[in-house]
Amino acid sequence: MNNDIERVLYSKEELNRRMDELAKQLTAEYKDQRPLIISVMTGAVLFTVDMIKRMDIMAKLDFIDVSSYYGGTSSTGKVKLVQDLKSDVRDRSILIMEDIVDTGHTLKYLIDLLKERGAKSVKVCTLLDKPEGRQVEVKADYVGFNVPNEFLVGYGLDYQGYYRNLPYVGILKPAVYEKD
Ligand code: 5GP
Ligand code: MG
Repeated sequence: MNNDIERVLYSKEELNRRMDELAKQLTAEYKDQRPLIISVMTGAVLFTVDMIKRMDIMAKLDFIDVSSYYGGTSSTGKVKLVQDLKSDVRDRSILIMEDIVDTGHTLKYLIDLLKERGAKSVKVCTLLDKPEGRQVEVKADYVGFNVPNEFLVGYGLDYQGYYRNLPYVGILKPAVYEKD
């Protein structure tokens, strides 16, 4: 698996250090709000569990699954709800946890959906942000790292379902997806 990686962008140690900082900010913001933390499956699950362990707040956790990628390395722009939340979001403070924001279609869909359902507030924390990829205007409130416009894998990010369990974020060798 490691042989398919061209370059490591963020090591385990760098990810941990940045998560310590982000979690401190989120703890301060949410300490009196009892937020509902919504993790966007499947990519953001690793980031979410590592973050919530660092946050000293009362919070609930739920999951939503949306898809826009259909297995390739570029977004189709269409977002589909694959698995809905269990929770009612009405009047709740919502914190969305994402792995990466690229075109922005996924995030825009989620924010619109939650607002439509009556959420009191919706904020977003993403591990990675690819500002160059943006097609719709949407902004994350908390960003771990701004990343270049390359196809990344690891720490939740996959290529055809694989590489999510790499402990770091890296650039996949183009040869891996060119041969598919
Ligand atoms: P967006 O809707 O903003 O284009 O994309 C959001 C989703 O696309 C992310 O949650 C992630 O699942 C996927 N995605 C975007 N960029 C990358 C990338 O570089 N690598 C991987 N593995 N997934 C990505
Ligand atoms: Mg995602």
